[in-house]
Amino acid sequence: MNFARLLKLIPFYTSLCASLASAQLAFCRPATAVCKDDPIQVVSDTPADNYARLFLTSERVIEATVHFECDGMDNAVPSEPLPRNFMITKAYENYEFLRISQYDPAKPWHWGPYRYHVQIGLPSRSQTIDYIYALPYAAEKHFTVSQSYRSKYTHLAGTPDEYAVDIMMPEGTPVLAARPGTVIACRADGDMGGAGQKYSECANYVHVKHDDGTYGAYVHLKRNGVTVKPGQSVGVGTQLGLSGATGWVTCPHLHFMVYRLNSSLRAQSFPFKVRTASGIVQQLEEGETY
Ligand SMILES: [Zn+2]
Repeated sequence: MNFARLLKLIPFYTSLCASLASAQLAFCRPATAVCKDDPIQVVSDTPADNYARLFLTSERVIEATVHFECDGMDNAVPSEPLPRNFMITKAYENYEFLRISQYDPAKPWHWGPYRYHVQIGLPSRSQTIDYIYALPYAAEKHFTVSQSYRSKYTHLAGTPDEYAVDIMMPEGTPVLAARPGTVIACRADGDMGGAGQKYSECANYVHVKHDDGTYGAYVHLKRNGVTVKPGQSVGVGTQLGLSGATGWVTCPHLHFMVYRLNSSLRAQSFPFKVRTASGIVQQLEEGETY
């Protein structure tokens, strides 16, 4: 996914926190050890000779945009024009979102293969630039920012992570909501982290939708380290999970950012103000401890 962009070197993180799979931590159920992020699954069947059905399941992402396209349409007609963006607004289990039918019954027909891309969130134009966020950890703790806006490492200008902040914290630190909202996505089964883009889809995360249509992303959480579930309302200070080092990382930290989806379905982060122990800051600065 797009939010886990850090350089560095760290050994594989295997199931360090298997012992955390308590009932409280089991909302985002870990499957087998995996790296690839697969928040929405699409399957097809062919119940008759002249049509096929496509179904999607979205258990842990309840607000997303699925870009779906299909090649090889030969004497075949989809029930919706393709390619198409399907908006996901709740949890689905085997929801039939598309049919592909034979057009001329007298002629052979063929369709496929299909492919799809999932982007967490729905497009929105709004954002409240004056909102003052809380720190995403307990007030009595103090951590140092290792990377802030437009850094030369992985929060590059022009990328979705442009205005993200990395906060160094020991693995297992409670990660708290920085703004009220609703959990719309989570992942807890990623169990690897390390230097390089090949780990970018390994990160665990929680995304919270705010009341202005923006989202907060809390990334690199520990395996099994998610303590909320999709649809859950959270307030400032609600524990979302435990920090970790999954995804593209060199050491344990929390990647936090506020973003919206633009009309091109691209995540676009933006600056955010934060209330710290020493007052409100316009930006969490690299190298500073809060
Ligand atoms: Zn980061």
